[in-house]
Amino acid sequence: NLQDKLDRAFKVLKGQGNITEINVAETMKEIRKALLDADVNYKTAKSFTDEVRTKALGQNVLTSISPGQLLTKIMSDELTNLMGGSVTELEITKNPTVILIAGLNGAGKTTFSGKLANFLREQKGKKPLLVAGDVYRPAAIDQLEVLGQQVGVPVYVDRASEDPIAIAVAGVAEAKRNGNNVVIIDTAGRLAIDEALMVEITAVKEATQPHEILFVVDSMTGQDAVNTAKAFNDRLDFTGVVLTKLDGDTRGGAALSIKSVVNKPIKFIGTGEKMEALDVFHPDRMASRILGMGDVVSLVERAQQQFDEKEAAELQKKIRKNKFDFNDFKSQIQQIKKMGNMKDLMGMIPGVGKAIKDIEIEDDAFKPIEAIIDSMTPYERQNPDVIDQKRRVRIAKGSGTNIDEVNKLMKQFGDMRKVMKQMSNPGMMAKMMRNIP
Ligand code: GDP
Ligand code: MG
Repeated sequence: NLQDKLDRAFKVLKGQGNITEINVAETMKEIRKALLDADVNYKTAKSFTDEVRTKALGQNVLTSISPGQLLTKIMSDELTNLMGGSVTELEITKNPTVILIAGLNGAGKTTFSGKLANFLREQKGKKPLLVAGDVYRPAAIDQLEVLGQQVGVPVYVDRASEDPIAIAVAGVAEAKRNGNNVVIIDTAGRLAIDEALMVEITAVKEATQPHEILFVVDSMTGQDAVNTAKAFNDRLDFTGVVLTKLDGDTRGGAALSIKSVVNKPIKFIGTGEKMEALDVFHPDRMASRILGMGDVVSLVERAQQQFDEKEAAELQKKIRKNKFDFNDFKSQIQQIKKMGNMKDLMGMIPGVGKAIKDIEIEDDAFKPIEAIIDSMTPYERQNPDVIDQKRRVRIAKGSGTNIDEVNKLMKQFGDMRKVMKQMSNPGMMAKMMRNIP
């Protein structure tokens, strides 16, 4: 699946301190392949990876947890943007607001009509009327009536009529008479796009002047969904998209392609056959669904937030000059602590959560270390080399620890300095996280 492919793609980047032209090219190729497999169309996948590459190359990886994770964050932001950035609300201020539902057969129009009526009644305090505009299949009228009954919304039907335009117009008039402030017009589809359907739905649009035209599409139809969306939009200039059947194992790549091809907001997603299985579309959530990366993004966000870039640059300079001292060490510890509970933090990294489930990670593991550092004089903190045996005894006493603990810390600190000097690049946090897998 996409997750495995992205994992593989990120492996290329793993352990590399910087995102460079060379390592990013291979990764972008993998990501493009993965997106294509998730039903994102070629043009979209190409422009997406180009954009991500440009952004990634300009990034300083210094403060990030690993280049792969930073890349995930960039991708997630980019995907979110491509899908509209934030939630786009329905325009339901008119009285009555007319909403026309369009799409192919089996896309889920009738089901969505019922769900939308339910949503508007329950969540928005509206008084909707459903209109049964599918005159070609008698069962379609029954279906809408059953759904209307289920959600407690009246349904306007005219079984004697074969004219969907007249029915739609009569439905709006009925709503005005009865004080319904939203009219949802369910319409007939076809097996495929054809001229007769387009002429008819366009006529319904002209006759009812809807405030919203929602195009319903089955997300499982992949690339076809994009073509259908384009054909409907060319004729209808719809106001929003409804993606249905996202409860299956579709990754939602269609969402990305449709948005980029027709440039209309996705407003709802259907996640099941039940009337409650409707969600307002959140671009950021869909982005993480497409990436399948769980909490990596929020982990990266937290790390970036807490680990001040300037401070890190300062630190790097010191490390290079071998001036890393106990003050720096202590501020590093504080950085780590600021990021929250260590176990929670590590648990957010995919694959790590399970592995550390039973391991005790003390949140106060740093306490004795901090106590020891606090017991040093400012001079000692800045010049760790002067801390001889006599000073160590005093520090042990002052910190309420013992000489062994102080010796251990001094040894660790010395080792750390050596290692840090060797890798002239990343901060301690970055190194630590990269070694976790
Ligand atoms: P229409 O021809 O466009 O009106 O499509 P329908 O509303 O009759 O739906 C066609 C089929 O898809 C029905 O069996 C629905 O129960 C099913 N369906 C609709 N929306 C969803 C959804 O979000 N998830 C799933 N799993 N099934 C759906
Ligand atoms: Mg139908």
